[in-house]
Amino acid sequence: MKPLALFGGTFDPVHIGHLSVAWEASELLDAEVRLMPANVPPHRSSPTATATQRVDMLRAALRGQSRLALDTRELERSGPSYTVDTLQELRRECGERPLVLLLGADAFAGLRSWHRWRELFDVTHIGVINRPGIETCIPVELERAVAARRTDDPAVIRAQAAGKMIELAVTPLEVSATHIRELLATGRDPRYLLPAGLFDDPALLAPYRAMPLS
Ligand code: ATP
Repeated sequence: MKPLALFGGTFDPVHIGHLSVAWEASELLDAEVRLMPANVPPHRSSPTATATQRVDMLRAALRGQSRLALDTRELERSGPSYTVDTLQELRRECGERPLVLLLGADAFAGLRSWHRWRELFDVTHIGVINRPGIETCIPVELERAVAARRTDDPAVIRAQAAGKMIELAVTPLEVSATHIRELLATGRDPRYLLPAGLFDDPALLAPYRAMPLS
């Protein structure tokens, strides 16, 4: 069965790093991929753009292709959205369909600080995406906890509903939303680090620009 892969994040703003790795993960796993913006990220400070603005940017970024979709369920929930709750909800909807939670290597390295993280493997696989430019050291305890779950075969992911961990070697792109926000705040125009659709409407990037639109 074609797996359903979820790529969560703040997407503040969505950038070509997100889109490219999600696209390649979809190819490597032969999966449907949904980008899933987070409402109140439990581990981080508030996003610069509002939830509505981040969804508008995601819609503009995803226009014109059909491999990547948007899932706004966490924004529709009030309060913090714990990944484990979301994945359990998806599991109830999906029956035995394989689910894959896609995480950048930096996010995966911090997995042990996530709410009820061990329960994730009851309902989903985890796909770890390499990410350049960010120091990621997988803690020994985490490595030990996932060692028996490791596979490098996408067929294993397709053959069972949950419980495995796979590293996905995608084209490394050293892009981060933090850097893009810094560029925009200092009046720069990171045109080719952002999906073209974000430039269609000047209001989309306005939350990050130093000068208000005239
Ligand atoms: P920020 O700089 O604001 O922390 P970010 O660029 O890391 O943002 P997020 O929305 O926080 O983007 O990330 C969502 C997911 O995308 C995370 O799992 C993160 O590791 C992954 N990710 C973001 N950028 C890349 C990239 N260039 N390559 C691989 N994974 C990435």
